Amino acid sequence: MGRSRSAGFGRCLFLCIGLGSSAASFGLTINRNFIAAGGSFGSGLGNAASAPTANVAGGGDLVSIFNAAADCWEMTILDNHTVNLTYGWQALSGGTLGVHVLTGQGGAPHRETSGVIRFDRDGSSPMFLDSTPALREEYGALQQSTQNLGGGNMVTGRWFGSAVGAAAGRFDLFSIALHEIGHSLGLSSANTQFQAGNGDLDVDVTAPRPYAGASIPTISGAHLNLSNALMFPAASLSRRILMSHADTVANAEISKFVNLNLDACIVPEPAVMAALGMGIVGMLRRRRNRR
Ligand SMILES: [Zn+2]
Repeated sequence: MGRSRSAGFGRCLFLCIGLGSSAASFGLTINRNFIAAGGSFGSGLGNAASAPTANVAGGGDLVSIFNAAADCWEMTILDNHTVNLTYGWQALSGGTLGVHVLTGQGGAPHRETSGVIRFDRDGSSPMFLDSTPALREEYGALQQSTQNLGGGNMVTGRWFGSAVGAAAGRFDLFSIALHEIGHSLGLSSANTQFQAGNGDLDVDVTAPRPYAGASIPTISGAHLNLSNALMFPAASLSRRILMSHADTVANAEISKFVNLNLDACIVPEPAVMAALGMGIVGMLRRRRNRR
C-alpha cells in the first residue's frame, strides 16, 4: 500500500483504556451483545457459529478483542450517543473478513442506533486473535501517512507493521473489529445521513470539526478511498491499523459528532513509562538519602 510514511513517532504502545465504557452517563456508549453459537443475529442474518477452529493463531477471543476495539472508539468520540451492537462469528462468503449491517437509525443529530457485525469463521483467511488486544507488542513501530485534502495536513493512515510471531502473515481481528465498529458510527451505506452527503463521493468536513474544508474521498459504498485508512475497504496481512484522523473526522461529519479525541488510542510504550517511573523513584530515593 503506497504513500506510507514513517512519522518518527518511535515505538508507541497502543493501549485501550476502558474509560466509562458502560456506566458512562456521557460520551459515546457502545453496548455490546455477543451472540454465542446457535443464537440468531436477527431477521435475515442467520445464526451465529462457534469460534473458528482453523487458520487462527494468538490464543485470544472475540469478546475481549471486540471490547478493546469498542473501548477505543468510545475514547475517540466523546459526544453523548448510544449505539447497540450485536456481534459474533459466522461463515462469510469469499474473502470477506467482517460485515456490518445497520439495523436502526434516527434521532437528532441522525445517527445509527443499532447494528449487527459478523466476523468470518470459515477459515478462508488467516486471522490473528490477540490475547492482549489492548497491547500491540506483536507489531513494529507506529507509522502514519498524511495528506492535505483541503483542510490542512491530515493524518490519513495510522498503523503498526512488521508483525512477528502469531501475528505475522495474518489479518488482525482487532483491526477488523475497529473497522466494522467504525461503520456503525456513520460510514454505513444504509445510513441516510451518509447517503445524503455522498452524492459527490466524498465527505465534506465542516466546522466545528477539525480539518473543516477537507473533502475525504469515499469508495465502494461507505468506505474511504485512502489506502492507509482504517475505513479503506481492504485489509493487509501482518498489520494492525488504528483509526486515522480521516476515519474519525469522516464519521464525525456524517453523525455530527463534535467532541473528538483524535489521538486517544496512542500512549507511550512501556519502556518510556518505566523510564519515567524510574526517574520518579530515583528522585524520591535521592531525597530520602539526603535525610
Ligand atoms: Zn467495511
